[in-house]
Parts: sequence; C-alpha cells; structure tokens
Amino acid sequence: MKSPNFYGETGLNRMAERRSDSTWLQTLAANQDAIIVPIWRTRNLIAQNTETPEAIHLSVGTARDLLDENTHLIFLGYRNDVPHFAVDISHIDEPHEHPVLKETGEFTDIRDISLNLPREDGGLLAYSRAIAQWHKTHRFCGRCGHPSEPKDGGHMRLCTNPNCNTQHFPRTDMAVIMLVSSGDKIILGRKKEWPEDRFSILAGFVEPGETIEGAVAREVMEEVGIPITNIRYHSSQPWPFPSNLMLGFFAEAESETINITDDELAEARWFTRDELLDEAKAYAEKPHSVSIARRLIAEWALGIEP
Ligand SMILES: [Zn+2]
Repeated sequence: MKSPNFYGETGLNRMAERRSDSTWLQTLAANQDAIIVPIWRTRNLIAQNTETPEAIHLSVGTARDLLDENTHLIFLGYRNDVPHFAVDISHIDEPHEHPVLKETGEFTDIRDISLNLPREDGGLLAYSRAIAQWHKTHRFCGRCGHPSEPKDGGHMRLCTNPNCNTQHFPRTDMAVIMLVSSGDKIILGRKKEWPEDRFSILAGFVEPGETIEGAVAREVMEEVGIPITNIRYHSSQPWPFPSNLMLGFFAEAESETINITDDELAEARWFTRDELLDEAKAYAEKPHSVSIARRLIAEWALGIEP
C-alpha cells in the first residue's frame, strides 16, 4: 500500500462499531477532558501566534458555553485515548469576541495553510469540517422534505417523519485523477480559470452506473480526445471540500494527437520528463503541494512509477 496522501491521516480510531450506542456516547461527551474541534462556517480554529500553524482543540469543559440548543456533538473517534468531537458553532456571529474563543486563534480555511500543518492535523481538521458541513446542508429529508435529525454520533441523519424514517448518510463524491503518459512525456491541461503557467493532470467525477476505470478513460477522451490503455490505480486522497475522494491513476495514451472538446480546458499539451524534473526533485525533497496531482507527476518524473 502507498503511503497516505495529505488529508488521508487523522490519527483517529473512528470506533464506528460503537457509534450507534447513544449511552456510551453520552458518557464520552460528559468527560470534561474530551476534545472539541470547533468549526465555524467551514473554517477551523488555528493558532496564529506560533511559528507554524497549529490546530486549537478545546476541552468539553471549556467549550460548553459555545453550544446552543441547535448544536450537537459529532463523534470523530479516539486519538491518543481521548475522545474527539467536532462541533459546528456557525450560529455565533463574532467568534473571536466570544469569551471561550477570545485570543485563542483565527478561524481559517485550512486549504490556505495545509502545507505547514502537521499531517494528522490536516486530516482531522478536514474530516471535522466536511462532516459539519454535511449536517448543515442536509437538514431536511431528501425523500419527503421533513426535518431530519443527527443520529449515531452525527454519522447519520434520520427523517423525523414517522411515515418516512429514511436514514441519510454523509456522501462522498468520487473523482478520478490520472497521469496519462506516452513514452517520456505526459499530458497536462490548464483550466480556463487558472493562470497562464498553471497546469495539472486531468481529472473528473465518476458518474452513476460507471466503473472508476471507465470514468478514467471517459474523462481523458472527453477532455483531450485520446484513447488510453493500461490503467493502473495508485492511491486515493480525501478532498473533503466539501465531499470529494480523489482516486489517482496512471495510464498510457494510445495516440498523441490532442483534441480539446471539453469547454473546461483552455489548453492541454505534452510535457517531457526533463521539463518536470526540477519540480519533481524539489517535491521529493519536501512536498510543496498537498495534492495527489503533484505526487503523481513527481513519482512519474523520477521514475518511481513507470
Ligand atoms: Zn423523510
């Protein structure tokens, strides 16, 4: 198995098998030393007065005053024998003025600081943010429109309409991302909204009723008009902004004629190994990007992945 990609490590034992035991969860939540990971409007609480960004965790004891009747604890799991919960405190308009949060840190979009975050914090904060956001956007039953309520430590929502009772689970949208090579070069594309010098490997969402390898071949054909073969899975990366899981692949092109039919791409072209080598070496010394795309490019350019 490949080493995990960034956002893929949380340091947590999710204890999924016990999440439906509400008595057990209540006992954990009553533990004054249990940890609360606060989320405010998709942002995480980060210490700004340290040299590198640091996640700020609160204890249940101190965080009580942040909760109102609409907040609920989302059980994340155990880390270092301590139960961890995420709590969405978006109902507070000015969190930096709240007595509990004053002078603790700033609510920050972790994508802006991920490079400097410890890996396990990156994963834990992304997980917290994603599941809190899922609750916020799934308050009503998609089947009958009645309100739903959190269950199983926040890992399910149950419709409150007794004639419906539908269970709703957090969704994960699968996306494929693929490095397509031909001999000593690979295709990189530039999206219309990207700066002139930004290129990356191709990617797209898996559609209903489609295999992931089918999605890889379809996306490459759709974006650059090239048939591919020898599709090999590399690794995955949670990208929960809000709910993606990136599945990384290598594949080989059967033609080198690029034909852009997709209106997302401004351009696409072949890049030689030499053109990518400096960046790949720099990446190998110290990953300067958290994305799986940079890793796939670096591993291919350095010959780690043929
Ligand atoms: Zn319903």
